[in-house]
Amino acid sequence: MARLSQRMVSLGTARSEIREAFAFAQARAAEVGPDKVDDFSIGNPSVPAPPTVAETIHRLVDEIDPVALHGYTPAQGAPDVRQALAEDLNRRYGTYYDKDSLYLTVGAAASLCCCLSAMGCPGDEFITFAPYFPEYKVFVESAGGTLIPVPANLEDFQIDFTAFEAALSPSTKAVIINTPNNPTGVVYSKATVEKLGQVLESKSREYGHAIYLISDEPYREISYTAEPLPWVPSYYDNTLVCYSYSKSLSLPGQRIGYVLVPRTVEEFDLVYAAIAGAGRALGYVCAPALFQLVAARCAGQTADISVYKESRDLLLDGLRGMGYTCAQPDGAFYLFPRTPEPDAKAFCERAKKYDLVLVPGDSFGCPGHVRISYCVPTEQIRRALPKFKKLAEEYGL
Ligand code: PLP
Repeated sequence: MARLSQRMVSLGTARSEIREAFAFAQARAAEVGPDKVDDFSIGNPSVPAPPTVAETIHRLVDEIDPVALHGYTPAQGAPDVRQALAEDLNRRYGTYYDKDSLYLTVGAAASLCCCLSAMGCPGDEFITFAPYFPEYKVFVESAGGTLIPVPANLEDFQIDFTAFEAALSPSTKAVIINTPNNPTGVVYSKATVEKLGQVLESKSREYGHAIYLISDEPYREISYTAEPLPWVPSYYDNTLVCYSYSKSLSLPGQRIGYVLVPRTVEEFDLVYAAIAGAGRALGYVCAPALFQLVAARCAGQTADISVYKESRDLLLDGLRGMGYTCAQPDGAFYLFPRTPEPDAKAFCERAKKYDLVLVPGDSFGCPGHVRISYCVPTEQIRRALPKFKKLAEEYGL
């Protein structure tokens, strides 16, 4: 038998409900035709990248010497790209970042891994809030830490501060938040972010060490609130931001994003060095050079995310009208309604009878709910509503 890391073998072979649901949808589509199957299982953006992305790529290919264009950049990313991205943030959030606060990576996943590996020491605990992106557990454990999920606040999926304070301990190294959220679509209010900052400040003082806040923000621009989203580092100095262009520019396959380490972070130089060290140790150096330039030139723009709002309204109004209960989803492209029976897996099995493919909340640490990824053509939502209705009727809603 091959002498391999048992942990890696089990990670590589573990079943994933999301992947299984997606595979089921693909198999059914091949069997009965794609127009009969309504797959809401995965979070792949359904709107194309804005035309400016393709135009920029053409221009870069035409204008820049190919050796330079496709060559290595410094490990942390090209300085002019990092400066351009910092200035874009400054324009939008009234901040004063510069290139030395940014470390470019292959998407938010790599950004998270860099942050966690940079700070993870044996015995460290990392808190997050259920429901949460399932990869957090994998990333935290790979960094040698333990993930401590705080039970969900089922009312509105804002933070339950009593449960949060009970989870904090001197072993807490960092807290991971994700707003707008996958899987709920919920956006943290200003009051939530403000209070979170206050609690972390007071607990850092009490424990005598910084508790970092890792703000995972791949959906930052996809929000439907009238007010702009709170900029998390303005509410807590020891915040690190993990960002990617996967969702805002619809470029998930191009793998481009960054870690932002604001200068307000305690011992900024050491923290940035540790992020760079983690990037080196994990092999996340020199993010894709062409897409570094695309990000710099297209920063501040987005794909046509108005389509998601139209889909959100259609689906949310439709489901609520049928009697489903769903917390207000003001961002990302997910809904997380309560299932009409406590067993969400059984509900998803019933939905499959209608070729309606959903993911049980258990996958996100929150049973009794179901994730609906509505980043699909709006037409699919119209077609699927009668299926949701039939399901509701089965449960007597
Ligand atoms: N964090 C959350 C909450 C996500 O939903 C995703 C992807 O779906 C990621 C991180 C990873 O994003 P990326 O494609 O930028 O690695």
